Amino acid sequence: MVGPNPTNGIKKVCVIGSGTMGAGIAAQVANAGVPVLLLDIVPKEGSDRDAIAKGAVAKMLKTDPAPFMSKRAAKLVETGNIDDHLDKAGECDWIVEAIVERLDIKQSLYEKLEKVKKPGTAVSSNTSTIPLGHLVEGRSDQFKRDFLITHFFNPPRYMRLLEIVAGPETDAGLVAKVEAFADRAMGKRVIHTHDTPGFIANRLGTYWLAIAVNAAMDLGVTVEEADQIGGRPMGVPKTGIFGLIDLVGVDLMPLLSKSLGDTLPKGDPYFDTIRPMPLVEKMIAEGYTGRKGKGGFYKLEKGKDGSRTKLALDLASGEYRAEQKPAPLPGKAERDLAALVTAPGKVGEYAWAVLGPVLSYAAKLVGEAADDIVAIDDAMKLGYNWKFGPFELIDRLGPGKLAERLAAEGKPVPALLKAVGNKPFYRIENGKRQYLTEDGSYRDVKRAEGVLLLEDIKLGAEPLAKTGSASLWDVGDGVAAIEFTAKMNALDEEVIKLINLAIPIVKAQFKALVIYNEGSNFSAGANLGLAMFAVNIAAWSEIEKLIAGGQAAFKALKYAPFPVVAAPAGLALGGGCEICLNSDAIQAHAETYIGLVETGVGLVPGWGGNGEMLDRAAKPKMMPKGPMPALGKVFQTVSTATVAKSAAEAKEQMFLRESDGITMNRDRLLADAKAKALSLVDGYAPPEPPVFRLAGASGRTGLSMAVRDFQKKGIATAYDGVVADRLAEVLTGGEADLIDTVTEDQLLKIERAKFLESMKDSRTQARIEHMLTTGKPLRN
Ligand code: NAD
Repeated sequence: MVGPNPTNGIKKVCVIGSGTMGAGIAAQVANAGVPVLLLDIVPKEGSDRDAIAKGAVAKMLKTDPAPFMSKRAAKLVETGNIDDHLDKAGECDWIVEAIVERLDIKQSLYEKLEKVKKPGTAVSSNTSTIPLGHLVEGRSDQFKRDFLITHFFNPPRYMRLLEIVAGPETDAGLVAKVEAFADRAMGKRVIHTHDTPGFIANRLGTYWLAIAVNAAMDLGVTVEEADQIGGRPMGVPKTGIFGLIDLVGVDLMPLLSKSLGDTLPKGDPYFDTIRPMPLVEKMIAEGYTGRKGKGGFYKLEKGKDGSRTKLALDLASGEYRAEQKPAPLPGKAERDLAALVTAPGKVGEYAWAVLGPVLSYAAKLVGEAADDIVAIDDAMKLGYNWKFGPFELIDRLGPGKLAERLAAEGKPVPALLKAVGNKPFYRIENGKRQYLTEDGSYRDVKRAEGVLLLEDIKLGAEPLAKTGSASLWDVGDGVAAIEFTAKMNALDEEVIKLINLAIPIVKAQFKALVIYNEGSNFSAGANLGLAMFAVNIAAWSEIEKLIAGGQAAFKALKYAPFPVVAAPAGLALGGGCEICLNSDAIQAHAETYIGLVETGVGLVPGWGGNGEMLDRAAKPKMMPKGPMPALGKVFQTVSTATVAKSAAEAKEQMFLRESDGITMNRDRLLADAKAKALSLVDGYAPPEPPVFRLAGASGRTGLSMAVRDFQKKGIATAYDGVVADRLAEVLTGGEADLIDTVTEDQLLKIERAKFLESMKDSRTQARIEHMLTTGKPLRN
């Protein structure tokens, strides 16, 4: 495939084992647009010999969050069984083994594979714990050259980490080929690890959980307190410790513990964490295996009236009791790690009991499991969703202070920590981020080839322009980038101001513009809090100004004399969607969740989204001619506040055009968006303003009937109907009728009027207030 996600000669992949991991890996290969053969064993019963792999695909089609990015992707998976179809595996360019974690079973599969595979075809194992050396025992030299470990994380679509282990005999070219495919086509950040038990992330992750559970029991800390102290203040997702164990499965704990205990070298600090766990054993025996079971350390109890109460397990008695929200952390402990570990009482004691050993263990793994500290930090950030890696945590704590306290308590100080002294593990030098190596020198943090990150650019540059909610950056090669900077990257008048500042700068000094940022979400849409503030003081002219200002700014981008490419990732909602729709092209990250959600809060799209959607729906060849089919499609999408669950789905829903690009690897989005923008520069001319032939009053009647029907069926509420009617009025061109044409400006005017009418309606205001306070839609 040519384009942003090259597959590097890998045209077909075979995945053997269709359990949790194999099925998910196969789905992600298919999401990359590459055909995949998924094999499992022949079931003991039944006549369908492919039933296990087929069942895995069927199950994935019902799983939420979905392993497949689109239905089209699911069709790329061919199923079969290892008895009848192993020869087909031999035809594939990469074979991934993801079967049960048993050395003998894996070895016997490789023996069979060796007979069918072509020399030079990569075979990789997804093993979590078995050393590569053991896996290839008894195999030929050629097989050893072709063999590596590719350790994906669960769920493979959403977890960005891939650990790769190459053996001493593995062909480096083959590793590079698999790595390039995993990176560009499957969207993974690849980390090379040593052939040591648990590699990096699970080795440190399992140690961390064991230490944190033991410390909670020893210090009499409740599960809620442990998750509070060991969660957000340490940059750990708010599930914390026990919440995470419930999520991955309580039954996984003893399995991980056993497998690491069996394989780690004697004397490893991990052994000190192993102890009898009667409580955990009892939980597993009785089916309290976490969220997948009857509950775990937390449990939701349903009352007779349908209410739900959250219970937590008392670690001392083993009984459930009502959840107890811990008191807020004292002083600066929430934000300041040094304050956290020195906080009085249980808070400081527990924080230190976790961080002291975990950070020391991380330091021990440098050289042993990983080449450098960057690999360890990245592994924990991508594999366990930590906000900071362990060495970034040490920098926040102060490396000297950590070593001092360990020494004062008579605990071993890792060599690396002794060597670093009071220097930080990371520093910025000449606009580059550098990390400390084992020999005490600093080296630049290297990105994979072709990766471009705004985060890195910002280290050595000042913005070309900046307002309270957005900045303009030079991202190289004649391309500028608009970055949103407000909370949730919400859009407000400061963003509009920046757009207006940016256009003349780009026109004078650049070839093209991209709209891009590195937040978890591209933009949650217009700042509703500000809008409600204006409503509360009845500043209607301010609201009108914001709507008209946004329309004008987005239009100015659309008709600017240079190409504009929007590069969304994560949520792109409401206004965040509309700025994309107004661009010349979109280069979206595969995990983009885009939609016009205004009706959910009782509004209609107000920044040109209606016209852009109508224009998109009118153009595709497969759409029947005339205004009605396009209108029906747009009305359905917008009135139900549909949000695409992937960029691929966004194409089906026409938020993206067929010609828009999708980037699988988040790290490559900026580079791809830039390339797309530059490809549009030669002979660029702004688009012709569309002239709409809309359905008018007769079309509106049809839509209205459909809405009344939904109301009768109880799918739409009374006010949903009012909002839908307003939307219908915009989409049908207000007073226009079939024979009339409507200009873009006329449509924008109708859109503005209907937006304001909605904003003045107390039922819309109630919806917005509810959304702002609860984060959920109000169905009034
Ligand atoms: P699983 O139990 O969900 O699935 C294993 C699959 O292998 C089953 O469908 C089974 O029918 C099949 N199988 C058994 N013997 C086979 C054989 N001889 N030939 C072909 N298929 C066979 O297991 P899983 O969780 O998907 O784990 C698979 C591998 O991935 C293991 O090596 C595991 O250590 C590793 N892993 C698991 C996770 C995780 O979170 N579950 C994460 C990373 C790596």
